[in-house]
Parts: sequence; C-alpha cells; structure tokens
Amino acid sequence: MIRLSDSVKCLKGVGEARASRLARLDVHSVEDLLFLFPRRYEDRRKVSKLSEVVPGSVRSSTVKVVSVESRISSKKRVPLTEAMVSDGTALASVIWFNRRNLDKVISVGTSIALHGDVSKRGGIVQFVDPEVEVLWDDRPPRQVGCIVAVYPLTAGLTDRWMRDVMDRALVDALPSLEDPLPDFIRAELGLADLHTALRNMHRPPSPEAWREARKRVAFDELFALQVGLAMVRRDRERTVGAVSLPCNGPLRGSLERALPFVLTSGQSKALAEIGEDMASEVPMNRLLQGDVGSGKTAVALLAMMQAVDGGAQAALMVPTSVLAQQHGARMEAILAHHGVKTATLIGGLSQSERASMLRDIASGVVDVVIGTHALIQEDVSFKNLGLVVIDEQHRFGVLQRGAIAKKGVMPHTLVMTATPIPRTLALSVYGDLSVSVIRTMPKGRIPVKTRTIGEHKLDDLYGFMEREIEQDRRIFWVCPIIEESEHLDAGPLEERFYVLVQRFGEKVAMVHGRMPLAQRQEVMASFASGEKPILACTTVIEVGVDIPEATVMVVENAERFGLSQLHQLRGRVGRGDEQSWCFLLGKPKTSEGIKRLEALCRSSDGFVVAEADMEIRGPGEICGVRQHGLTDFKVADLIRDCDLLDLARERAFRLVGEDRDLSSFPSLRDAVLRRYGRKLGIATTA
Ligand code: ADP
Ligand code: MG
Repeated sequence: MIRLSDSVKCLKGVGEARASRLARLDVHSVEDLLFLFPRRYEDRRKVSKLSEVVPGSVRSSTVKVVSVESRISSKKRVPLTEAMVSDGTALASVIWFNRRNLDKVISVGTSIALHGDVSKRGGIVQFVDPEVEVLWDDRPPRQVGCIVAVYPLTAGLTDRWMRDVMDRALVDALPSLEDPLPDFIRAELGLADLHTALRNMHRPPSPEAWREARKRVAFDELFALQVGLAMVRRDRERTVGAVSLPCNGPLRGSLERALPFVLTSGQSKALAEIGEDMASEVPMNRLLQGDVGSGKTAVALLAMMQAVDGGAQAALMVPTSVLAQQHGARMEAILAHHGVKTATLIGGLSQSERASMLRDIASGVVDVVIGTHALIQEDVSFKNLGLVVIDEQHRFGVLQRGAIAKKGVMPHTLVMTATPIPRTLALSVYGDLSVSVIRTMPKGRIPVKTRTIGEHKLDDLYGFMEREIEQDRRIFWVCPIIEESEHLDAGPLEERFYVLVQRFGEKVAMVHGRMPLAQRQEVMASFASGEKPILACTTVIEVGVDIPEATVMVVENAERFGLSQLHQLRGRVGRGDEQSWCFLLGKPKTSEGIKRLEALCRSSDGFVVAEADMEIRGPGEICGVRQHGLTDFKVADLIRDCDLLDLARERAFRLVGEDRDLSSFPSLRDAVLRRYGRKLGIATTA
C-alpha cells in the first residue's frame, strides 16, 4: 500500500523526470496529486457508431484496426501513420502525425478507442490525429465513453498521462486517506464521503456526481479555514484581561447630545454593539465596516468616550499624519469643552513638545491620543489604555492587531474600514472578528455621478471646472505616483500641475506625500478655504479628508488604481449639499480594466462596487487579501459558495465551542494546523 505522504515517485510510471514536472504544479506527495483537481472536463460519454459520425465534429468511437501503415509524408517530411478501421457499421480512415511508435502498438485486429476531429476524405470518414487508446483484452476504454478530466498541464505531461497516473493513485493510495471531517457533520449536511468525492472529482460518472463531489471538497476547504478562525477566537477568549468599560457613563451621553446631528440608525446599532463588547472583560475585537462618509468617526468618538467614562485612555490611529492632524484638531475642539484632554502625536513636533506629550500620556493626564499607526510601533506607553481604534480606511489590519496584542495588556480593539468588504470575504478573512456594518448614509447625501472621459474631452472638463469654481466649489485632481516614498519629484503630478497652472493660474495648489508636513497643512488650508480651489495631488488626499465644498474629483490614469481605491477617492466629494462629480481619465487596456471603471460608473454604493470587484478580480486580489493566503482555495468560490460558507462557519464555530482543543477530532485538528496554524497564529498548546 502506498502512503499518502510518499513521494509521487512511488507510483508506477512516475520517475525522476515526471516527478520534477509534477513538482512544477506543486505536487510532491501522492496526497498532493489526489488534490490536484482538473481545470475542466470533457464529456465523452457518447460513443458514436462510424455510420453515424458526421464530418466536421469531434467524435469518440471504438473500432478494430483493419490495416495500418507508417511512412514519411512526401511534402512536409513528417512521419505519418495511416490506418483503416471498422466498427461493423462502416469503415473509416485515421491519420496520425509524428507518432513514430504507434505501428508497433497497434496492428490488424487491435481494438482501439479514438477521440478527435472528424473530416471526410475520399468519400469516407477520417479521424485526423485523434487521441488513441488501445483496448487490451477488450477492456472498456478509459479515455472515451466517460467524462474525462483535463488537468492543469506543464510541459512534458500529457492529459492522457495525467489521467492514467491519477487512476493509479485513486486505486493504490486513496483507500489510506483518512477523512478529517467529523462523520456527524457529514451526515447532517448530506455530504458525499471523501473517497467517493475525490474519485468523482477525477473520474465523474455524471455531472450530478461531480457536483456532489465538488460540493464536498469545497465544503472541506471552507470548513478548515473556519475551524482555524474559530480556534483563533478561542485563543483570544482564553487571554483574560480587558478592562470592563460600562456603557452608561456621563461623557458618552453628553457628547452624543452635543453632536450637531442625530446618529443614523446604522451608527446607533454599531455603537450599541461596540458598547456591549467594551463592557465585557473579554477584549473586544470588532470590525466596523462603513462606506466613505457613513460617519464612522462619530461612532469612534463616542466609543472613546465610553473608555474615558470608565477611567481608561483611548487611542485613535489613522493612516496619515494629515488625517491625524485633522482628527486631532477637531476632537480637541469638541472634547476640550467636556474636560477631556487630547494629544495629537505626530512627526514634526519639537523634542520638548513631544517629550511632554509622552509624559502626559504615561501619567494618564491625557485621555485621548490621536496619531498615525506609528503610535503602536513607537512604543508609546500608556497609563491605562482601554480602547484602541484603528482607522484603516481601505487596508486590512491583521498586522496592526498583532502589534497591539504584543503590548501585554489587552485593550479593546475597534478596526474601522471604509472598504465595504463583501460579506463572504469578511467572514473568511476577518472571520475571528465580530463585524458591525453601517449601511445607512446620513440623510441628504446626493450620490456622486461618475463618468469616464477621454483626452479629447479635456477642454470640456476645464470649462466645467471653471463654472464649478465660480460657484465657490473645490476640485481634486489626483495623479498616480509610482512609489511615492522613493521619488522626490512627483513626475506626472508636476506635469499636470503646470498644465493646470497655465489654464487656471493662481487657483491651483499642489500637494504630495514628500512635502514637509507643515507645508502640506498650509496647502490643504488654502484649498479648503477656497483661496486655491484646485488641488493637484497624489493619493495623500485619499483618506479621510473632509471638505464639504469639494464637488469634483478628477482621477488621472484611473486604470492604474484599484477599484476600492477609486471608490475611496470618489468619497472625498459629495460630502456637502451639492451634486458632485467624479471624472475618470485614462484608457484601460484590458477588458478587466474597462469592467472596473464601468462598475464604478454604474453604482455609488460601496458594497455593490466591492461585490463587482470580487467578481472581476477574484477574492484573492481585492483588499490585498492574497498576502494572507487565506482565500486561495482550489475549489471553493466565495461568490458561488456563499451558502456553503455559512454552513461551514456555523458548524466550525459550534464544533470548536464544544471541543475546544478538538481532542476528539485529531485528524481534523492536524489538518487545520498544518494549513492555517502559522498563518493564523493558532496556539498549538492549550
Ligand atoms: P467616514 O465613515 O468616511 O469616516 P465621517 O465620519 O468622516 O465618515 O463622516 C462624514 C461626514 O458626515 C462628517 O462631516 C460628519 O460630521 C458627518 N456625519 C456623520 N454622522 C452624521 C449623521 N448621523 N448625520 C449627519 N451628518 C453626519
Ligand atoms: Mg473616516
């Protein structure tokens, strides 16, 4: 018996050379081979009688050889093998090219199966260079009369060979494969058993059988990840030590009343969920999802007040220092009235300013700290940090969360993201987090109109911009930049800046990430005030900047930006009462690129855009999920299999809830740890 962990070389017919070719498909062990799934199938179940074969089609037939002969073609000097075959209903001719040894294998009277293109020549049917399978002892054919698999191929391995070697693995090795899925779950969900499923993935007797097989294999993939995520949550629940921060304190209440608006229902619901988590001693780990402009900041502010009410400190980390500055200034303006002390910790402070700020944070004089993500890295020490809010905008926060956990005491954590992540993806990647979603937008928002425009329409655009400026509105003009941190000169940005200056003169300002902070703030201020109503910029403005007068967003070379990034950029306008516009310049070169821009023009709803993004690019690409390698399933598909994902998640969390170390399911535990242990950082000892 061959073991699953054995090298593929243990299979008959696999030598050094073929093993190294299989290695290119990432197949090393026999088990790898069994889990190398076909990329498609050919339905060859219908075997035609020669009398019924129609020229101009692809056919399968089983026949006997009547005559066979090899020669070199007179014109092209290629070796030819020609045969006449019969199945009792008609005669047909067959021609093969370059099959030197074929006439040694087949001779008069040999039974063979043929599959290939059929034409007509000299009045009879001719198979042109068909696949051929010799039917020794009149055994039933394996390459025709059935559904055959087509595998991902690499040079030097043919489909035919792959099918043969897979057949051997299915016979010789599959029986020793243990099924890691608990039997009761399999039975409950009516899933196929693993052996049958694998056999039918490679050799489906019918499309229905294949669907059942696929469902089982897809379920296993989703289930393994969900079990991993359930174990991560289990680990977190085991680490005791968050401070319970009750939600009925005075500050949170009076701040909520002091806001110039009433919370939307989405904001209230999210805040209630957060408040409840923070009141618990299990550290909160919650994701707050809400489209750009949905008002996440207000929710964060009130959550921070709950922390201060409970005698703890709160920290808000934002992606850029411009934002830190902006949030810091606003929060200070609001909070100072309520006796809450804030500190904005950013680069560019003087040594002594910084030192005294750090002292006040360490001694607890400061209640709320606002800064960039460097807050965590720089090892700022807090007296009593109760809540960390991470405003990720459109990035994923796995790394940052890790950094917080390392600081010993466990604050409650709230990660905010403006990328509306499709639900199935959120469950797969953020699966150990609780998720709150704000779907409602503040009242009175007018959806931004989005258009793609060509270079030849630039003049119209400039005219439009002039009219907008006359009405005291602001215009962002975003240029892409290649690795902002490495290049001092902004390249395309500067070019565009000079073109705009020629047209609009003094009205144009420019900002990019390499500018000193103070200068950047100055530029932003002159833009916000309307002194310079056109801002040529890089994506430094992408995140969070809140200027209600901004009504036009122009994105140059839009095809270079990801869909979610474009959606983010668009979110910078449409924050006031006026109709706003987003113009996408540039020519996407791929159909994928065109589809992406179309999706953006079609909808201003971030969730719709995100679903489209996932459909166009696949889940691995969106939101940089790929780097985590959590969703690179072989079979499961987060769009098609969302129902299966729900089942897998529910069963996985229940199972880990009941048997926290999976001690009754060692093969499941091992399989999950092998696949996800390191990636998810699952504790291996209780
Ligand atoms: P985001 O979710 O993108 O961070 P912000 O928190 O920046 O959104 O909010 C966007 C704008 O909407 C801000 O100007 C904010 O003051 C305003 N806002 C937030 N909540 C409401 C509300 N419930 N009603 C009206 N305006 C609101
Ligand atoms: Mg925001």
